[in-house]
Amino acid sequence: MTLDETPVLVDSSLYEGILSDESFGKIEEYTISINNVLKEFYKRKTFYKGDNITAIKQHKIDAKIDDKTYTFKEALESLNELYIDNAISFHSPNYVAHLNCPVVIPSILAETIASTINTAVETWDQSTSATFIEQEVIRWICNEFSMPINSDGIFTSGGTQSNFMALLMARDNYAFANYGVNLKQQGWFNEVSKFRIFCSEKSHFSIKKNAALLGMGYDSVIAIKTDSEMKMDANELVLAIEKVKQEGNIPIAVVATLGTTDYGSFDPLETISIIAEEHNMWLHADGAYGGCFVLTDTHKHYFENMKSVDSITIDFHKTMFQPVSCSAYLVKNKEHFKYVSYYADYLNPLEDKDPERPNLIEKSIQTTRRFDALKVWFTLKTLGAKTIASYLEKVHFLAVTIYHEIKKDILFETVHVPELSTIVFRYKVLNETDNKVHDATNLYIKNTLFKSGSASIASTKLQGNIYLKFTLLNPMNSVKNLREILNMIKQKGEEYSINN
Ligand SMILES: *Cc1c(COP(=O)(O)O)cnc(C)c1O
Repeated sequence: MTLDETPVLVDSSLYEGILSDESFGKIEEYTISINNVLKEFYKRKTFYKGDNITAIKQHKIDAKIDDKTYTFKEALESLNELYIDNAISFHSPNYVAHLNCPVVIPSILAETIASTINTAVETWDQSTSATFIEQEVIRWICNEFSMPINSDGIFTSGGTQSNFMALLMARDNYAFANYGVNLKQQGWFNEVSKFRIFCSEKSHFSIKKNAALLGMGYDSVIAIKTDSEMKMDANELVLAIEKVKQEGNIPIAVVATLGTTDYGSFDPLETISIIAEEHNMWLHADGAYGGCFVLTDTHKHYFENMKSVDSITIDFHKTMFQPVSCSAYLVKNKEHFKYVSYYADYLNPLEDKDPERPNLIEKSIQTTRRFDALKVWFTLKTLGAKTIASYLEKVHFLAVTIYHEIKKDILFETVHVPELSTIVFRYKVLNETDNKVHDATNLYIKNTLFKSGSASIASTKLQGNIYLKFTLLNPMNSVKNLREILNMIKQKGEEYSINN
């Protein structure tokens, strides 16, 4: 094409693929067939169709994209075979593995609205009043935690990103407050190599991973021993801080986990907050799992000291029955968001700053960002926080009830009293003292139950040995059903012993 030629326009029928008032009818039509497929998915009683290596190899081939296109109906049919039919259903009562929750209806409706409108919550001129919905959800959750008036927060992609923001602020604030160094502007300076972060040995791996991403390395994270209840041992924390100081290094932050991923244990926040204050350290509360339990009557008391924390991670996609992603990062002092804010000429120039029309991008490490807050807002408006709390109380009840049954049973060994909704335990081969046999048996149990599609149980390691884990997040589960899973575990345990 030469410059003075008029460009050839695309055939206008191709624009039918774009959602517009004219094509909207297609959404209605397709939604019916999608819902029919999803309804079948929800009808399925098993959590998984089951593992079959020939089928898995075929799925890898079927996932390929080539130049061909298909009708919507054809594509949906093959998607059903490739994905929906093989998807893991978190609403199944036999899915008790990880921190995945069944979802509440308003969250799905809100997700549809947010995606269909496609609002990006970054600048006022893209998000308008959606800005206030996100701000209001943040204000609501800050209030639940009794955070001070100057607190604020932002939605994130998950607990990992929230923890990243916490460590970034801890690092930059320490450098600024104690050395007058503006890391955001100037970058690295040598003292940062001496910065140390403390968390319990049962804390989430994202603390270490984020420390590395922030240039401080895994070695900047000091894992503190936990006590018999899987909570950070505060005496060990004091000793570790002293040791770090003697070595000439600099304690800058401590992470208290409110609900550890494996055990649901809460670190002793009050004691830790006194220690953090004494040593001028940032205190971050990782409530990715436990945070939403602030809404309950059973666990409210765990959150009495939230005023003393500098920042909080909370995952609504774990314990508020919201679809992925839905998570937030909260800070006691909103001034600290300056460590992540940037004023881009094309997006949010400083001269354009207007308190009536805020740009949420100033608080985020993302630019284009999903309107995830709408799901929580719609859930609160329709179901209400009390309903969510009752779901959490139910899953806690299930965990405690099943724990007592496991504890009485000589074929099981428990290691902790569940504080939230997980139970770590293992199947015991009678009269067997070799841990290697126990490890092999428990792995066999977990893997065979998964592959057969009977039950999905997680496993974890405690002192190097394999344990099984139930993560209970489905309030529609029952003691009866969980007993059935325990029976399956015993059957598989026996089966392994007979064959080996
Ligand atoms: C799950 C979890 C995280 C990570 O959250 P994502 O949303 O998966 O990124 C962090 N901390 C704790 C305690 C968790 O359980």
